[in-house]
Amino acid sequence: MEAKIEELKSRIKGRIIQPQDGEYDEARKIYNGMIDKHPGIILKCRDKEDVIQAVNFGRENNLEASIRSGGHSGAGLALCEDGLVIDLSEMKEIHVDPENRTAVIAPGNMLREIDKATHEHGLALPSGIIGTTGIGGITLGGGIGYLSRKGGLTIDHLLEAEVVLASGELVKANKDENPDLFWALRGGGGNFGVVVSFTFSLIPVKNVYAGPMFWPLEKAGEAMNFYDDLMQNASNDLYGFFAFLIVPPGDPFPKELHMKNVCGVVWNYTGPMEKAEEVFRPIREFGPPILDFVSEIPMPALNTMFDDLYPSGLQWYWKAHFIKELTDESIRVNIEHGSKIPTFHSTTHLYPVNGAVHDVASEDTAWANRGAKYSQVIVGVSPEADDAEEITAWAKDYYQDLMPYAAGGAYVNFMMNEEDGRVEDSYGTNFKRLGQIKKKYDPQNFFHINQNIEPCD
Ligand SMILES: Cc1cc2nc3c(=O)[nH]c(=O)nc-3n(C[C@H](O)[C@H](O)[C@H](O)COP(=O)(O)OP(=O)(O)OC[C@H]3O[C@@H](n4cnc5c(N)ncnc54)[C@H](O)[C@@H]3O)c2cc1C
Repeated sequence: MEAKIEELKSRIKGRIIQPQDGEYDEARKIYNGMIDKHPGIILKCRDKEDVIQAVNFGRENNLEASIRSGGHSGAGLALCEDGLVIDLSEMKEIHVDPENRTAVIAPGNMLREIDKATHEHGLALPSGIIGTTGIGGITLGGGIGYLSRKGGLTIDHLLEAEVVLASGELVKANKDENPDLFWALRGGGGNFGVVVSFTFSLIPVKNVYAGPMFWPLEKAGEAMNFYDDLMQNASNDLYGFFAFLIVPPGDPFPKELHMKNVCGVVWNYTGPMEKAEEVFRPIREFGPPILDFVSEIPMPALNTMFDDLYPSGLQWYWKAHFIKELTDESIRVNIEHGSKIPTFHSTTHLYPVNGAVHDVASEDTAWANRGAKYSQVIVGVSPEADDAEEITAWAKDYYQDLMPYAAGGAYVNFMMNEEDGRVEDSYGTNFKRLGQIKKKYDPQNFFHINQNIEPCD
């Protein structure tokens, strides 16, 4: 094998990192500090050709292969044990075309790099809420965030992907070329090949009226009802995700709130700025809030607001549901568990997936959950490995108690390695078609370190 690896080195522009190399431990680190996998080969690809070489090498040598873009997968799906990591994190090109409002983006970019490039032109790509997330995984799983009600999911802006298939062939997928593959990529995760280039449409967004607002825990029931009512009836210019949290013990939060268990919403208003105060008047009158950091800021400032609070390397354990309705009973369960958050990094978020997300039918892309109102994630997080058991138990209990009120399935990007059937539930009526497309493009299931869809007839 060593001779083969040496020969591969001579054929690539990027580099290969193995266990004996000094940078190996750094290279196998991913965002979730709970994951500790030891791949045999990490191939840091420089370009599309390198990715083709990597896929061919993995397939010809029967290696397990994982795909890494931003390394944010909670389940650690960017890495494999012993096998080959196809690492795209150094593929960083971004080309914004302001006239056509499009961007061609290489898979190694983080959201904050993309936000910066598009913001210069007064444009934005609807995507996630933390700037260090990778564009590769978030796009292929769907892409939920502050602009979802206004602009839909990240996949709703995907115009074209270039994909290295398991065969090593480089193909395009768009509405005319390989349309079945294009359909599957929009939500079907990393099952179908390695995406080496994404072309997106962008929307005009420059400054937003946004930020967090908190209420005391005793107000949580009323606040959830008030919030739910707004999110179902407000214009698509208003977005907010609801959270239970513990106020972090540091700036910019006022001392008297440090370590207090509260509930809140992180808002994002994208309508005319001169109307913002008016839109927020009834919101401010509700409560009133015990903290109000909502003001006009540049969109990238919102998208990176929590990056420092969540540096790479913390322990993460995720559970998730889709939610059709908030009922009195489900609100009661949320309050019960939201009042027992184990650490100040742990939280639960309810992300609205209505508004423009509902403008696309569930069968139009692989993302089958357009009927849900919220995507809820419950995350136990701590810097301390000793807390792993406690944060995991909290997330699991919360998830279990919400099960009777959930819509079935979860957003695949918010899942760990789930129990049997959860992936199928998440794709619902699209699951069979995904299996058939998988059979066409990856019949041997070479790409299986993901929320896996097995080939089927
Ligand atoms: C702190 C944090 C915040 C988050 N916030 C949001 C959010 O606001 N909205 C949201 O929707 N999600 C969010 N997520 C979830 C996120 O979408 C997923 O973790 C996603 O997988 C991250 O993408 P990545 O490229 O960083 O992941 P990686 O770990 O690099 O990749 C994960 C998997 O995606 C697939 N994949 C990645 N790149 C490619 C590619 N180029 N070609 C083929 N397959 C590929 C592979 O199967 C890979 O195993 C968040 C995650 C974290 C940890």
